[in-house]
Amino acid sequence: MTQIVQMQGMNKYFGTLHVLKEIDLTVEAGEVVVVIGASGSGKSTLIRCVNGLEEFESGKLVVDGNELAPKSGNPKALAEIRKEVGMVFQQFNLFPHLTVKKNIMLAPRKVKDAPETIANATAERLLNRVGIGSQADKFPSQLSGGQQQRVAIARALAMEPRLMLFDEPTSALDPEMIGEVLDVMRELAKEGMTMMVVTHEMGFAREVADRVIYIHEGQIVEEGKPADVFDNPQNERTQAFLSRVL
Ligand code: ADP
Ligand code: MG
Repeated sequence: MTQIVQMQGMNKYFGTLHVLKEIDLTVEAGEVVVVIGASGSGKSTLIRCVNGLEEFESGKLVVDGNELAPKSGNPKALAEIRKEVGMVFQQFNLFPHLTVKKNIMLAPRKVKDAPETIANATAERLLNRVGIGSQADKFPSQLSGGQQQRVAIARALAMEPRLMLFDEPTSALDPEMIGEVLDVMRELAKEGMTMMVVTHEMGFAREVADRVIYIHEGQIVEEGKPADVFDNPQNERTQAFLSRVL
């Protein structure tokens, strides 16, 4: 098996706040890992470390063979990782002044120097894949939240990522739009994309995750197959959390 993410004894602080504590975590190629935990437990910080959006203080982090040193000591690895890891946020973060299609073409054009015609064809293919081929020439503000989030996913996919990170991708959506975004993510998982997903959608986690990780105050306190974690949690913190959210 190929390890896409390898974290060993990782620690992260915000000032004196110890946010991630001795994190050991590996993600294999093709695996879908869902991260759950209470608000403030460190879920976002954990996945933001994976693409170098946050620095960490100690430990080891290797992403697709690129080793990030603590305190962002390896700019070359960071640049590689940024190219290979796609990220989707709670707020869609689309560029408001660009059309949907241009949003998707931007990174391949700028970062990969892709020719216009190729970037254009890729954008059209990806928009069809996420079910919004007819919206290509609209601006983000003309789309629903669910459509905007699907554009954000297509934009990340345009870089042909080796790993996709999702940080509560449906938390800002009206309830009726959550399903269409989860459907796209489910398809991606089926096609073999390696994914780390922070979500409160426990039904999705149970169905799609290969592994569920429960974080409490910056520590992984439980980890296992969804059926085991949800139906038979071993740690009392996990039990308490699940009894609140399930
Ligand atoms: P979660 O995503 O699980 O809600 P976060 O990873 O966002 O948790 O945050 C973990 C802890 O780190 C929280 O106590 C939060 O207040 C703190 N935190 C997050 N980002 C910052 C930051 N940029 N500066 C200082 N503290 C932060
Ligand atoms: Mg968060």
